Amino acid sequence: MDKRIHLTGLTQAELTALVSEMNEPSYRAGQIFAAVHGRRLRSFDEMTDLPKDFRARLAERASVSTLKVESRYLSEDGTRRYLLKTEDNLPVEAVFIPEERRDTICFSSQSGCPLQCDFCLTARLGLLRTLTAGEIVEQIIIALNDAYGEGVRTPHGTNLVAMGAGEPFLAFEPLMKALRIMADPKGLYIVPNRVTVSTAGVVPRIRELATVADRPHLAISLAAPTDELRDVLMPINKKWPLEELMAACKEFERSLKAGERFTFEYVMLDNVNDSDEQARQLANLLNRHNLRAKVNLIPHNPAEPLPYRPSSPERVESFKAILESKGVQAYVRRPRGRDIYAACGQLAARRTANTLTANPSPV
Ligand code: SAH
Repeated sequence: MDKRIHLTGLTQAELTALVSEMNEPSYRAGQIFAAVHGRRLRSFDEMTDLPKDFRARLAERASVSTLKVESRYLSEDGTRRYLLKTEDNLPVEAVFIPEERRDTICFSSQSGCPLQCDFCLTARLGLLRTLTAGEIVEQIIIALNDAYGEGVRTPHGTNLVAMGAGEPFLAFEPLMKALRIMADPKGLYIVPNRVTVSTAGVVPRIRELATVADRPHLAISLAAPTDELRDVLMPINKKWPLEELMAACKEFERSLKAGERFTFEYVMLDNVNDSDEQARQLANLLNRHNLRAKVNLIPHNPAEPLPYRPSSPERVESFKAILESKGVQAYVRRPRGRDIYAACGQLAARRTANTLTANPSPV
Protein backbone atom coordinates (compact mmCIF):
# COMPACT_ATOMS: atom_id res chain seq x y z
CA MET A 1 0.00 0.00 0.00
CA ASP A 2 1.04 3.56 -0.68
CA LYS A 3 2.85 4.79 2.41
CA ARG A 4 2.44 8.45 1.53
CA ILE A 5 0.60 10.68 3.99
CA HIS A 6 -3.01 11.28 2.99
CA LEU A 7 -3.37 15.07 3.24
CA THR A 8 -7.17 14.95 3.14
CA GLY A 9 -7.14 13.42 6.62
CA LEU A 10 -4.96 16.11 8.23
CA THR A 11 -6.16 19.05 10.30
CA GLN A 12 -4.70 22.49 9.62
CA ALA A 13 -2.45 22.05 12.67
CA GLU A 14 -1.10 18.75 11.35
CA LEU A 15 -0.51 20.29 7.95
CA THR A 16 1.41 23.12 9.59
CA ALA A 17 3.69 20.57 11.25
CA LEU A 18 4.22 18.83 7.92
CA VAL A 19 5.18 21.96 5.98
CA SER A 20 7.54 23.13 8.70
CA GLU A 21 9.22 19.73 8.57
CA MET A 22 9.64 20.39 4.84
CA ASN A 23 11.19 23.81 5.62
CA GLU A 24 8.37 25.76 4.06
CA PRO A 25 6.66 28.79 5.59
CA SER A 26 3.62 27.94 7.68
CA TYR A 27 1.18 29.81 5.42
CA ARG A 28 1.67 26.98 2.93
CA ALA A 29 -0.38 24.80 5.28
CA GLY A 30 -3.33 27.18 4.92
CA GLN A 31 -2.91 27.17 1.15
CA ILE A 32 -2.93 23.38 1.02
CA PHE A 33 -5.93 23.12 3.34
CA ALA A 34 -7.88 25.65 1.26
CA ALA A 35 -6.97 23.80 -1.95
CA VAL A 36 -7.95 20.35 -0.68
CA HIS A 37 -11.08 21.22 1.31
CA GLY A 38 -12.13 24.71 0.19
CA ARG A 39 -11.60 24.28 -3.58
CA ARG A 40 -11.86 20.49 -3.36
CA LEU A 41 -8.91 19.92 -5.72
CA ARG A 42 -7.94 16.31 -6.17
CA SER A 43 -4.39 16.63 -7.52
CA PHE A 44 -1.27 18.67 -6.78
CA ASP A 45 -1.07 19.76 -10.45
CA GLU A 46 -4.15 21.91 -9.97
CA MET A 47 -2.70 23.72 -6.95
CA THR A 48 -0.99 26.32 -9.07
CA ASP A 49 -0.63 28.76 -6.17
CA LEU A 50 2.04 26.45 -4.75
CA PRO A 51 5.56 26.61 -6.25
CA LYS A 52 6.19 23.82 -8.71
CA ASP A 53 9.17 22.36 -6.89
CA PHE A 54 7.23 22.30 -3.61
CA ARG A 55 4.37 20.48 -5.35
CA ALA A 56 6.85 17.90 -6.62
CA ARG A 57 8.36 17.44 -3.15
CA LEU A 58 4.87 17.16 -1.66
CA ALA A 59 3.82 14.53 -4.18
CA GLU A 60 6.79 12.41 -3.12
CA ARG A 61 5.62 12.09 0.44
CA ALA A 62 1.93 12.87 0.36
CA SER A 63 -1.23 12.29 -1.67
CA VAL A 64 -4.53 14.17 -1.88
CA SER A 65 -6.70 11.54 -3.50
CA THR A 66 -6.62 7.90 -2.50
CA LEU A 67 -10.14 6.80 -3.42
CA LYS A 68 -10.78 5.90 -7.05
CA VAL A 69 -14.23 6.35 -8.56
CA GLU A 70 -14.93 2.93 -9.98
CA SER A 71 -18.52 3.54 -11.05
CA ARG A 72 -21.41 5.91 -10.58
CA TYR A 73 -25.06 4.93 -10.71
CA LEU A 74 -27.99 7.28 -11.24
CA SER A 75 -31.41 6.44 -9.83
CA GLU A 76 -34.65 7.45 -11.49
CA ASP A 77 -35.28 9.65 -8.41
CA GLY A 78 -32.01 11.53 -8.95
CA THR A 79 -30.04 9.75 -6.22
CA ARG A 80 -26.44 8.97 -7.17
CA ARG A 81 -24.42 6.10 -5.79
CA TYR A 82 -20.63 6.11 -6.00
CA LEU A 83 -18.76 2.85 -5.90
CA LEU A 84 -15.24 3.79 -4.86
CA LYS A 85 -12.12 1.73 -4.30
CA THR A 86 -9.47 2.29 -1.65
CA GLU A 87 -5.77 2.02 -2.46
CA ASP A 88 -5.85 -1.53 -1.10
CA ASN A 89 -8.73 -2.21 -3.46
CA LEU A 90 -11.62 -2.38 -0.99
CA PRO A 91 -15.10 -1.11 -1.84
CA VAL A 92 -16.40 2.13 -0.32
CA GLU A 93 -19.81 3.54 -1.14
CA ALA A 94 -21.26 7.00 -0.81
CA VAL A 95 -24.68 8.24 -1.90
CA PHE A 96 -25.78 11.72 -3.00
CA ILE A 97 -29.47 12.35 -2.33
CA PRO A 98 -30.93 15.48 -3.93
CA GLU A 99 -33.64 17.07 -1.82
CA GLU A 100 -35.84 20.10 -2.11
CA ARG A 101 -34.29 22.15 0.66
CA ARG A 102 -30.86 20.72 1.34
CA ASP A 103 -29.15 17.86 -0.40
CA THR A 104 -27.86 14.99 1.69
CA ILE A 105 -24.71 12.92 1.34
CA CYS A 106 -24.68 9.49 2.96
CA PHE A 107 -21.15 8.22 3.63
CA SER A 108 -19.56 5.01 4.86
CA SER A 109 -17.40 4.60 7.94
CA GLN A 110 -16.14 1.11 7.15
CA SER A 111 -15.60 -1.05 4.08
CA GLY A 112 -18.13 -3.80 4.76
CA CYS A 113 -19.42 -4.13 8.33
CA PRO A 114 -18.72 -6.47 11.25
CA LEU A 115 -22.27 -6.34 12.64
CA GLN A 116 -24.56 -9.04 11.42
CA CYS A 117 -27.92 -7.34 11.15
CA ASP A 118 -30.04 -9.94 9.44
CA PHE A 119 -31.96 -7.49 7.23
CA CYS A 120 -28.94 -5.60 5.87
CA LEU A 121 -27.04 -6.48 2.71
CA THR A 122 -23.80 -4.78 3.83
CA ALA A 123 -23.58 -7.34 6.65
CA ARG A 124 -23.02 -10.02 4.04
CA LEU A 125 -19.65 -8.50 3.17
CA GLY A 126 -18.31 -8.84 6.71
CA LEU A 127 -15.79 -6.25 7.90
CA LEU A 128 -13.10 -5.53 5.34
CA ARG A 129 -11.53 -2.58 7.15
CA THR A 130 -12.35 0.60 9.06
CA LEU A 131 -11.84 3.72 6.95
CA THR A 132 -9.39 6.48 7.79
CA ALA A 133 -10.45 10.08 8.48
CA GLY A 134 -9.08 11.02 5.05
CA GLU A 135 -11.12 8.34 3.31
CA ILE A 136 -14.25 9.55 5.08
CA VAL A 137 -13.68 13.19 4.07
CA GLU A 138 -12.77 12.20 0.52
CA GLN A 139 -16.15 10.53 -0.04
CA ILE A 140 -17.85 13.84 0.63
CA ILE A 141 -15.42 15.75 -1.60
CA ILE A 142 -16.06 13.30 -4.47
CA ALA A 143 -19.84 13.52 -4.10
CA LEU A 144 -19.85 17.34 -3.86
CA ASN A 145 -17.61 17.71 -6.92
CA ASP A 146 -19.75 15.34 -8.91
CA ALA A 147 -23.03 16.95 -7.94
CA TYR A 148 -22.08 20.61 -8.18
CA GLY A 149 -18.76 20.79 -10.04
CA GLU A 150 -15.24 20.92 -8.66
CA GLY A 151 -14.97 23.55 -5.96
CA VAL A 152 -18.39 25.05 -6.72
CA ARG A 153 -20.12 26.19 -3.56
CA THR A 154 -23.04 24.04 -2.47
CA PRO A 155 -26.28 25.90 -3.15
CA HIS A 156 -27.86 25.62 0.30
CA GLY A 157 -25.27 23.79 2.34
CA THR A 158 -25.38 20.04 2.63
CA ASN A 159 -26.45 17.57 5.27
CA LEU A 160 -24.36 14.50 5.99
CA VAL A 161 -25.51 11.18 7.35
CA ALA A 162 -23.17 8.42 8.53
CA MET A 163 -25.61 5.75 7.41
CA GLY A 164 -23.66 4.06 4.65
CA ALA A 165 -21.67 0.88 5.08
CA GLY A 166 -20.20 0.14 8.49
CA GLU A 167 -20.84 0.95 12.11
CA PRO A 168 -19.70 4.55 12.72
CA PHE A 169 -19.20 3.97 16.45
CA LEU A 170 -16.66 1.25 15.66
CA ALA A 171 -14.87 3.92 13.60
CA PHE A 172 -15.19 6.51 16.35
CA GLU A 173 -11.75 8.18 16.20
CA PRO A 174 -11.47 8.55 12.42
CA LEU A 175 -15.11 9.64 12.28
CA MET A 176 -14.70 12.35 14.92
CA LYS A 177 -11.51 13.55 13.27
CA ALA A 178 -13.21 13.68 9.87
CA LEU A 179 -16.03 15.74 11.42
CA ARG A 180 -13.50 18.19 12.90
CA ILE A 181 -11.77 18.59 9.54
CA MET A 182 -15.06 19.07 7.67
CA ALA A 183 -16.27 21.69 10.17
CA ASP A 184 -13.33 24.02 9.40
CA PRO A 185 -14.64 27.29 7.88
CA LYS A 186 -11.62 27.37 5.52
CA GLY A 187 -12.60 23.97 4.17
CA LEU A 188 -15.89 22.20 3.53
CA TYR A 189 -17.44 24.08 6.46
CA ILE A 190 -20.00 21.40 7.21
CA VAL A 191 -20.54 21.76 10.96
CA PRO A 192 -21.49 18.84 13.26
CA ASN A 193 -24.99 20.28 13.57
CA ARG A 194 -25.51 19.33 9.89
CA VAL A 195 -24.40 15.74 10.47
CA THR A 196 -26.34 12.73 11.77
CA VAL A 197 -24.54 9.62 12.95
CA SER A 198 -26.49 6.38 13.06
CA THR A 199 -25.49 3.54 15.36
CA ALA A 200 -26.72 0.00 15.84
CA GLY A 201 -26.26 0.63 19.57
CA VAL A 202 -22.63 0.69 20.70
CA VAL A 203 -23.53 1.71 24.25
CA PRO A 204 -20.13 3.01 25.54
CA ARG A 205 -19.85 5.36 22.53
CA ILE A 206 -23.38 6.69 23.03
CA ARG A 207 -22.36 7.56 26.58
CA GLU A 208 -19.13 9.09 25.33
CA LEU A 209 -20.90 11.20 22.72
CA ALA A 210 -23.12 12.54 25.50
CA THR A 211 -20.01 14.27 26.90
CA VAL A 212 -18.86 15.87 23.62
CA ALA A 213 -19.73 19.55 23.27
CA ASP A 214 -19.65 20.07 19.51
CA ARG A 215 -21.22 16.91 18.28
CA PRO A 216 -23.35 15.48 15.49
CA HIS A 217 -26.97 14.44 15.85
CA LEU A 218 -27.58 10.88 16.92
CA ALA A 219 -29.83 8.20 15.45
CA ILE A 220 -30.21 4.73 16.96
CA SER A 221 -31.30 1.71 14.97
CA LEU A 222 -33.83 -0.31 16.95
CA ALA A 223 -35.62 -2.68 14.55
CA ALA A 224 -37.37 -4.52 17.39
CA PRO A 225 -39.22 -3.69 20.62
CA THR A 226 -38.12 -6.80 22.57
CA ASP A 227 -34.76 -8.44 23.30
CA GLU A 228 -36.07 -11.72 22.00
CA LEU A 229 -36.62 -10.36 18.49
CA ARG A 230 -33.75 -7.88 18.52
CA ASP A 231 -31.27 -10.65 19.40
CA VAL A 232 -32.24 -12.30 16.12
CA LEU A 233 -32.42 -9.22 13.88
CA MET A 234 -29.45 -7.34 15.35
CA PRO A 235 -27.03 -9.67 17.17
CA ILE A 236 -25.27 -6.66 18.73
CA ASN A 237 -28.25 -6.74 21.09
CA LYS A 238 -26.76 -9.75 22.86
CA LYS A 239 -23.85 -7.56 23.89
CA TRP A 240 -25.87 -4.47 24.74
CA PRO A 241 -29.51 -5.44 25.34
CA LEU A 242 -32.42 -3.02 25.24
CA GLU A 243 -32.40 -2.05 28.93
CA GLU A 244 -28.73 -0.98 28.70
CA LEU A 245 -29.31 0.72 25.38
CA MET A 246 -32.32 2.65 26.71
CA ALA A 247 -30.37 3.72 29.80
CA ALA A 248 -27.57 5.08 27.58
CA CYS A 249 -30.17 6.82 25.41
CA LYS A 250 -31.66 8.46 28.48
CA GLU A 251 -28.23 9.67 29.51
CA PHE A 252 -27.70 11.05 26.02
CA GLU A 253 -31.10 12.73 26.09
CA ARG A 254 -30.24 14.45 29.36
CA SER A 255 -27.21 16.01 27.64
CA LEU A 256 -29.30 17.57 24.85
CA LYS A 257 -30.03 21.27 24.76
CA ALA A 258 -33.61 22.50 25.03
CA GLY A 259 -35.53 21.72 21.85
CA GLU A 260 -32.97 19.17 20.62
CA ARG A 261 -33.99 15.58 20.08
CA PHE A 262 -32.50 12.38 18.87
CA THR A 263 -33.99 9.75 16.61
CA PHE A 264 -34.77 6.07 16.65
CA GLU A 265 -34.81 4.24 13.34
CA TYR A 266 -37.12 1.31 12.96
CA VAL A 267 -36.86 -0.74 9.77
CA MET A 268 -40.31 -2.16 8.93
CA LEU A 269 -40.19 -5.84 8.04
CA ASP A 270 -43.38 -7.45 6.77
CA ASN A 271 -44.83 -9.83 9.33
CA VAL A 272 -41.71 -9.72 11.49
CA ASN A 273 -41.73 -6.52 13.54
CA ASP A 274 -44.72 -4.56 12.24
CA SER A 275 -47.80 -5.74 14.17
CA ASP A 276 -50.10 -3.50 16.23
CA GLU A 277 -48.93 -5.36 19.33
CA GLN A 278 -45.29 -4.59 18.48
CA ALA A 279 -46.17 -0.93 17.96
CA ARG A 280 -47.63 -0.88 21.50
CA GLN A 281 -44.54 -2.64 22.86
CA LEU A 282 -42.29 -0.08 21.17
CA ALA A 283 -44.29 2.87 22.51
CA ASN A 284 -44.30 1.34 26.00
CA LEU A 285 -40.54 0.74 25.87
CA LEU A 286 -39.84 4.39 25.03
CA ASN A 287 -42.43 5.72 27.47
CA ARG A 288 -41.22 3.50 30.29
CA HIS A 289 -37.77 5.08 29.89
CA ASN A 290 -39.32 8.48 29.57
CA LEU A 291 -37.65 9.10 26.19
CA ARG A 292 -38.94 11.91 24.00
CA ALA A 293 -37.06 10.81 20.90
CA LYS A 294 -38.90 10.59 17.60
CA VAL A 295 -39.16 7.39 15.59
CA ASN A 296 -38.36 7.18 11.88
CA LEU A 297 -40.11 4.24 10.27
CA ILE A 298 -38.08 2.91 7.32
CA PRO A 299 -39.83 0.42 5.05
CA HIS A 300 -37.37 -2.39 4.37
CA ASN A 301 -35.37 -2.07 1.17
CA PRO A 302 -35.41 -5.55 -0.26
CA ALA A 303 -32.37 -7.12 -1.86
CA GLU A 304 -31.66 -10.69 -2.85
CA PRO A 305 -30.85 -12.84 -0.86
CA LEU A 306 -32.28 -11.04 2.18
CA PRO A 307 -35.26 -13.03 3.49
CA TYR A 308 -37.46 -9.97 4.21
CA ARG A 309 -40.11 -7.89 2.50
CA PRO A 310 -41.15 -4.31 3.26
CA SER A 311 -44.32 -3.81 5.31
CA SER A 312 -47.30 -2.62 3.30
CA PRO A 313 -48.04 1.12 3.38
CA GLU A 314 -51.28 0.39 5.31
CA ARG A 315 -49.34 -1.59 7.94
CA VAL A 316 -46.82 1.24 8.29
CA GLU A 317 -49.64 3.76 8.75
CA SER A 318 -51.35 1.62 11.38
CA PHE A 319 -48.06 1.15 13.25
CA LYS A 320 -47.45 4.88 13.13
CA ALA A 321 -50.97 5.69 14.37
CA ILE A 322 -50.51 3.44 17.41
CA LEU A 323 -47.18 5.08 18.28
CA GLU A 324 -48.79 8.51 17.99
CA SER A 325 -51.80 7.51 20.07
CA LYS A 326 -49.33 6.72 22.85
CA GLY A 327 -47.57 10.05 22.52
CA VAL A 328 -44.57 8.91 20.43
CA GLN A 329 -43.85 11.05 17.36
CA ALA A 330 -43.30 8.95 14.27
CA TYR A 331 -42.38 9.73 10.66
CA VAL A 332 -42.35 7.47 7.62
CA ARG A 333 -39.17 7.70 5.56
CA ARG A 334 -39.42 7.58 1.81
CA PRO A 335 -36.88 5.17 0.32
CA ARG A 336 -34.39 6.74 -2.11
CA GLY A 337 -32.32 5.11 -4.82
CA ARG A 338 -33.69 1.60 -4.39
CA ASP A 339 -33.36 0.84 -8.10
CA ILE A 340 -29.57 1.30 -8.00
CA TYR A 341 -28.96 -0.37 -4.64
CA ALA A 342 -28.31 2.97 -2.98
CA ALA A 343 -30.96 2.79 -0.24
CA CYS A 344 -30.39 1.97 3.45
CA GLY A 345 -29.07 -1.52 3.90
CA GLN A 346 -28.43 -2.07 0.20
CA LEU A 347 -24.78 -1.04 0.00
CA ALA A 348 -22.75 -4.08 -0.90
CA ALA A 349 -20.67 -2.99 -3.85
CA ARG A 350 -23.30 -4.26 -6.28
CA ARG A 351 -23.01 -3.47 -9.94
CA THR A 352 -26.36 -2.36 -11.32
CA ALA A 353 -27.78 -0.81 -14.45
CA ASN A 354 -27.85 2.97 -14.97
CA THR A 355 -24.12 3.44 -14.83
CA LEU A 356 -22.87 6.89 -15.61
CA THR A 357 -19.36 7.32 -16.93
CA ALA A 358 -16.78 6.72 -14.24
CA ASN A 359 -15.33 10.18 -14.73
CA PRO A 360 -17.31 12.54 -12.59
CA SER A 361 -18.89 15.54 -14.25
CA PRO A 362 -21.43 17.99 -12.89
CA VAL A 363 -25.14 17.24 -13.18
N1 SAH B 1 -24.46 0.67 11.35
C1 SAH B 1 -25.26 1.84 11.49
C2 SAH B 1 -25.38 2.70 10.24
C3 SAH B 1 -25.69 2.00 8.93
S1 SAH B 1 -27.31 1.34 8.68
C4 SAH B 1 -26.63 1.51 12.05
O1 SAH B 1 -26.93 0.33 12.20
O2 SAH B 1 -27.38 2.41 12.39
C5 SAH B 1 -28.35 2.72 8.47
C6 SAH B 1 -29.83 2.40 8.71
O3 SAH B 1 -30.34 1.53 7.69
C7 SAH B 1 -30.08 1.67 10.02
O4 SAH B 1 -31.13 2.28 10.72
C8 SAH B 1 -30.48 0.28 9.58
O5 SAH B 1 -31.33 -0.33 10.52
C9 SAH B 1 -31.16 0.55 8.27
N2 SAH B 1 -31.23 -0.59 7.37
C10 SAH B 1 -30.34 -1.58 7.22
N3 SAH B 1 -30.73 -2.44 6.26
C11 SAH B 1 -31.88 -1.96 5.78
C12 SAH B 1 -32.76 -2.37 4.74
N4 SAH B 1 -32.49 -3.44 4.00
N5 SAH B 1 -33.86 -1.63 4.51
C13 SAH B 1 -34.11 -0.51 5.22
N6 SAH B 1 -33.30 -0.05 6.19
C14 SAH B 1 -32.22 -0.78 6.47
